[in-house]
Amino acid sequence: MTSLALLGGPPVYPGPWPAWPTAGSRARPLLDAVLASGRWALSGPWTGTPTLEGEFSRTFADFLGIRHCLTVDHGSSALLAALLALDIGAGDEVIVPGLTWVACASAVLRVNATPVLVDVSADTLCVAPEAVAAAITPRTKALLAVHLYSAMADMDALAAVANRHGIPIIEDAAQAHGAVWAGKRAGTIGRIGAFSMQQGKVLTAGEGGAVVTDDDKLAARLEQLRADGRQYAADGLRLGHPHLREVGHVLGFNLALSEFQAAILIDGMDRLPAETIARARGADLLTRHLAQVAGLEPIRPHPANSLRAYYHYAVRYDAPTFGHCSVGTLCRALEAELSLPVTAPYVPLDSHPLLAPSLRDPRAPRTRRPAPLVEAHRQAGRTVLFHHPVLLASEEHLVAIALAFEKVQRHARLLSP
Ligand SMILES: *Cc1c(COP(=O)(O)O)cnc(C)c1O
Repeated sequence: MTSLALLGGPPVYPGPWPAWPTAGSRARPLLDAVLASGRWALSGPWTGTPTLEGEFSRTFADFLGIRHCLTVDHGSSALLAALLALDIGAGDEVIVPGLTWVACASAVLRVNATPVLVDVSADTLCVAPEAVAAAITPRTKALLAVHLYSAMADMDALAAVANRHGIPIIEDAAQAHGAVWAGKRAGTIGRIGAFSMQQGKVLTAGEGGAVVTDDDKLAARLEQLRADGRQYAADGLRLGHPHLREVGHVLGFNLALSEFQAAILIDGMDRLPAETIARARGADLLTRHLAQVAGLEPIRPHPANSLRAYYHYAVRYDAPTFGHCSVGTLCRALEAELSLPVTAPYVPLDSHPLLAPSLRDPRAPRTRRPAPLVEAHRQAGRTVLFHHPVLLASEEHLVAIALAFEKVQRHARLLSP
């Protein structure tokens, strides 16, 4: 019996795996054009041609089927801009899923509002509509619905709760570019959608983000919020003079994307639609092969989530079948077999060290957790994640992932917990 790679045995498959991020044929020419243009920033001078930022925003909005897209420098800034656009601030509460990236809560704290942490659904790992309904108070000013890892939150049930209470939904689609719910793309269902284009995301410029909305008034606010009260001037443009005009109705920040990042995003959009489908196909194949291994349970998306966008492929394991090993141990054992990063889910936010009161200004608001985050902790303790580039590997390499699980399971008694 061959021993585990973690203990010095031969691995199941030592790689290579598909690389991420990747650049297509348009990236270099577009970057060269920016270098030579004299216009590196939105806040730079009018050079007689529209910005690449404007071109990307149009392309992304058309892809999503929404009226407005305003780019920002990070996904975290997208959340910040969305909260500010909705006038959320001190004394307000925003409902945030208990299992998500820490920036979802820190964005709320950044506007001096209180993140109210609620539990997630065991099927999707996304925020549970019942938990949201139970957490609403007269102070609730928004619901942050996050599409996590590879599944969409139940937007119909969440919209029903939100509409009943007249609360807007901010849809965090940082992990869901291209996903579809009942014929609509992720990010276009809530009042405002927020995207991240950070390095690991399926559309990336290294750093970057966007907010999208169908609401003309919110779009105008968002445009000013991301550029210190400035908006693209529609007329009176003069060569060498600023393309942005100081409108000055909303106090914001400089959260603007550079033209270099816009160039890379335009190149990325050439591949996003086809890659979304290829990743979904790879994920279906992987699910089929993992079904041959005892004790593994895939995420169960809602039927309305007709196209899944995979940021991470998440799979749950039955601890007794794997010798009661911890998520961390299983990740290390699989990593050794596959030469591939295998990671644990986020730390549920009620246990997150960065949100501990001791780390924060005692005068600032804290997170509130009206009920225990039972499923957030249970699922985080039995789930492992594969980053999306693996889903673009050939089927033979996806089979290797199933073989690695099987091998680790066979040798589970050799693992320390
Ligand atoms: C990545 C991410 C963010 C933050 O995006 P940044 O670009 O890293 O600031 C917010 N929410 C979710 C769900 C994310 O995955």
